[in-house]
Amino acid sequence: MLPFKLVYHKGYDLNLGEHVFPSQKFRLIAEALLSEGAAEARDFLTPAAAVDEDMLRVHTADWLHKLKTGTLSASEIMKLEIPFSREAVEACWLAAGGSILAGQSALRDGFGCNLGGGFHHAHSGHGEGFCAIHDVAVAIRRLQADGAIRTAMVVDTDVHHGNGTAAIFAKDESVFTLSIHQLNNYPAYKPPSNVDLDMADRVEDDEYLGALIPAVQSALDEFKPQIVFYVGGADPFCEDQLGGLMLTKKGLKERDRRVFEVARRRGIPVATALAGGYARRVEDTVRIHVNTILAAREVALNFPSVSAAGQQ
Ligand SMILES: [Zn+2]
Repeated sequence: MLPFKLVYHKGYDLNLGEHVFPSQKFRLIAEALLSEGAAEARDFLTPAAAVDEDMLRVHTADWLHKLKTGTLSASEIMKLEIPFSREAVEACWLAAGGSILAGQSALRDGFGCNLGGGFHHAHSGHGEGFCAIHDVAVAIRRLQADGAIRTAMVVDTDVHHGNGTAAIFAKDESVFTLSIHQLNNYPAYKPPSNVDLDMADRVEDDEYLGALIPAVQSALDEFKPQIVFYVGGADPFCEDQLGGLMLTKKGLKERDRRVFEVARRRGIPVATALAGGYARRVEDTVRIHVNTILAAREVALNFPSVSAAGQQ
């Protein structure tokens, strides 16, 4: 049994077929965790779809209406880069509900892991880059509305800049945003996060970790958030089709473990969401995401309680 909960819904699958986005990965990750004995059925929570009240704290009523009624313009669908369908819209609402549940679980257990979400390119009034709804932003604003937290930090390790996150929280001093990404990659315009770590093409494990870990440490020490939302992209992987960094699977797991450890040592709960992963072999993407959960388990077991972890 895991010392924290996994959040998953079979409706996460956007049913995109042969698309570069392997939307079946959500199911494959859940199945791998179960079949390898890393998790049991009772470790899973099933999210409900987010309600409109939650969505409206981040998104415009106009954008939500277009998604729900299927009235996006041709250019809005083109910007999304995924075919529009009822299933895809339902998956977005479920992913947002999943990130809310992962955040609530993290506040209770120290970790909470959504086996979906991380749709960090979604903006308040439009979607782009496979992202229609910003699940992590919806979750943060819900936890704030409930009075469960005042402050949060988003640590985004997807190979693509977290432009939606940066834009949504640009004028919000209660949320600190940190993105590590390949500079020479989508999106072309990168609105500033609080900290942007721009990686050159083909950066490898050591250089990447050497930039990320000290930056996360000082951001946590300076801002002292009440929760970290970790957007754990699998696409900095060296064989990713949409990424140009050279990280190994071992380096990516080390990335996750070290970020979790620096948060845990400071007594800060961590909620995780998945984000991108477009390896040539879908098994690699699945493995990298599974490793994020295994890294969380390792850190949770090494530091049994958030309050006992202490400041270091
Ligand atoms: Zn990405």
